[in-house]
Amino acid sequence: MDKNLELKDRVDSLEKENRLLDAKVLEIYSLYNISKRLSVTTQLEEIFNGTMDIIGTSLNIDDFCILLLDVNRKKLIVGGLHSDTDLKDVEFKLGEGICGRVAESGEMSLVPDVSKVSDFLFYKGKKTNIGSFLSIPLKGRSGEVLGVLNVNKAEIDSFSAQDVDLFTEVAEQIAVAVDKALSLKNLKDISIRDPLTGLYNRRYFFEHFERDIDRSKRYGGAVSIIICDIDFFKNFNDSNGHLKGDDALKAVAKIFEKSLRKSDVAARFGGEEFIAILPETPKEWAMEVAEKLRASIDAESVEGQENQPGGNLTATFGVACYPDDADFGAELIDCADKALYLGKAKGRNIVVPYVKDLITE
Ligand code: GH3
Ligand code: MG
Ligand code: MG
Repeated sequence: MDKNLELKDRVDSLEKENRLLDAKVLEIYSLYNISKRLSVTTQLEEIFNGTMDIIGTSLNIDDFCILLLDVNRKKLIVGGLHSDTDLKDVEFKLGEGICGRVAESGEMSLVPDVSKVSDFLFYKGKKTNIGSFLSIPLKGRSGEVLGVLNVNKAEIDSFSAQDVDLFTEVAEQIAVAVDKALSLKNLKDISIRDPLTGLYNRRYFFEHFERDIDRSKRYGGAVSIIICDIDFFKNFNDSNGHLKGDDALKAVAKIFEKSLRKSDVAARFGGEEFIAILPETPKEWAMEVAEKLRASIDAESVEGQENQPGGNLTATFGVACYPDDADFGAELIDCADKALYLGKAKGRNIVVPYVKDLITE
């Protein structure tokens, strides 16, 4: 009898070991899959969309979330979510909540029971069924924090030491992929952005412009463009110096960024000239947008503007619209340019629409 019990105990413990081994094999297999998938991923969106599924289905967790650090704004923003789309707009300041502190310190944090943490934020109240919580920093090649991986389970005390090791490895895999994707994105940004203002450059503008005109040719719809040239900018540089001139260009670029829609493209076209493409926009609307830009530049107080004629930094605008004014892209730019020069002749700080047979002299 005793012998039987002993035997049963042995069988039980062997079965338990077997189960643990099975779980371990499954984990290793999942890690292998995650790493395989991530190694061919070069875009942030792919990391967030594709790999989230593998992680979610192959590892035994209720929920997890990847947050990326926006270095300029010192904020963590949600990059990828497994199940809760409600969380997509949640942001954490550096140092705020568990994951904000993890991003700030670069040290992971395990919270076995979230009710014991007085300032646990439950994703700003948007997710309440969290019992235990694990937040691991995602680090780049030089050890800089790129973001965090948050994992949570509904039960308290549900992360074993083995789980922590596993998710640390998963976080390392994600970090390598995010690092690679961010480097590529930076390279791409350098090739399409103007380094002084951060607006798109002339090359990108033309690429986009031709595509928008082609689309409009095929499917209809208007494409408007706005050209802007700062008034008496040579004088601004001469009176205030080139560096202050650069600051003024940045201030104008910011106004473009703030005032336009996501689908519009604003670019630095030349020295003190800016251009915007407004897809699906008839000329009257584009005139309103240009007027808003003009008024904002007029109202902005830029350091050094007191030395300008009229004591104010202003700009002049020309507006043209495809297909009303031109048959192809280059001609449309020419139309907007003509309208702009008429504006200069009329005394500047004005928006002028192109009209047929516009007289510029
Ligand atoms: P208008 O009202 O007729 O447009 O006169 P303007 O003085 O603005 O025109 P002009 O074309 O004579 O001068 C443009 C000036 O813009 C000259 C140039 O030094 C300045 N500029 C061009 N690029 C830059 C830049 O990157 N930084 C600075 N600070 N100035 C620039
Ligand atoms: Mg100019
Ligand atoms: Mg000018």
